[in-house]
Amino acid sequence: MSVRSVSTEELKSLLQQKGVKASVQRLSILRYVMENMDHPSVDKIYQRLLPQIPTLSKTTVYNTLKQLTDKGLITALNIDDTEIKYDFIEQPHAHFRCLSCGHIYDVELDSAIYQTQTIDGHQVVSTQINFKGICNNCKQKTKEN
Ligand SMILES: [Zn+2]
Ligand SMILES: [Zn+2]
Repeated sequence: MSVRSVSTEELKSLLQQKGVKASVQRLSILRYVMENMDHPSVDKIYQRLLPQIPTLSKTTVYNTLKQLTDKGLITALNIDDTEIKYDFIEQPHAHFRCLSCGHIYDVELDSAIYQTQTIDGHQVVSTQINFKGICNNCKQKTKEN
């Protein structure tokens, strides 16, 4: 999991480019997704931001994430059967979800895959590639026990 720092100016300009007004909630939610890059769920974002924004509701988080997804600023991953996970995708990448610990890893694939515009004559509008299995960490633990 990588953590980075995103300036408020950068957040504002991203929102502005998409014609979205920069409210405190939108800035905080977009910042969380961009800085933490740990594929958070609605619940996780809500729990993490509540101490900073006591007036925040889960509905607001949900609606904001939906709006940011519709505008193409973030991606809603359909990798988990129970919850939607959100990701800020600067570079297109695939995901690997561990069936044992539930962690979602970013994985690199040949970037040409994401540039595919037609497949078997079908027009592609979005591409998500998800793998599932047992991650390296969990494989190690099984060996040790
Ligand atoms: Zn694992
Ligand atoms: Zn990712």
